[in-house]
Amino acid sequence: MHIRQDLADLLAAGHSDRAIARQLNVDAQATVAVARHALGLPKAKPGVRPAATAEILFHRRTQAADGGHLRWKGSVTRGGLPSLRHGGRNLSAYRIAYRIAHGREPQGKVLPTCKREGCVQIGHHADRGDRARAQDRAAFVRAWNRGRTKAILAQRARAETDRAREQRLEDLFDAIFGDQR
Ligand SMILES: [Zn+2]
Repeated sequence: MHIRQDLADLLAAGHSDRAIARQLNVDAQATVAVARHALGLPKAKPGVRPAATAEILFHRRTQAADGGHLRWKGSVTRGGLPSLRHGGRNLSAYRIAYRIAHGREPQGKVLPTCKREGCVQIGHHADRGDRARAQDRAAFVRAWNRGRTKAILAQRARAETDRAREQRLEDLFDAIFGDQR
């Protein structure tokens, strides 16, 4: 079964089914308890507050938005970047979302790729390496399209030649057989 990364993170951090269900707006039994069972994690002990990781703090500051985007409810830097304070440091919410999505630290600046300003949805960001690869891909697609256009024009030219040859044959037939045809 597929288990959402944010759900898996919250389970691993020791939150209760009900707390996770509330936070992610999913069903405690059908979704959270089932995922807990699939991951082989024990039930959360009541009264034990797990240490909040940056990922946990991240999830607490988000709210589902239309179109599958995620709104940031936390603080924002003067430059307009969603951020949160953890371990005495200000962290970019984009970077945390990236880490959750890819399981690794991003390289360089992390920015949303979905064109929704301030979106912190997991998977809606790219780092420097991703952007470079996307540019390579775009360049490849452009080159490929150029090649395809060339092939289509060549094919069209061939088709015209074929039609012209047929026309010549028709004329020839007319010339030889006239109305007997
Ligand atoms: Zn988005």
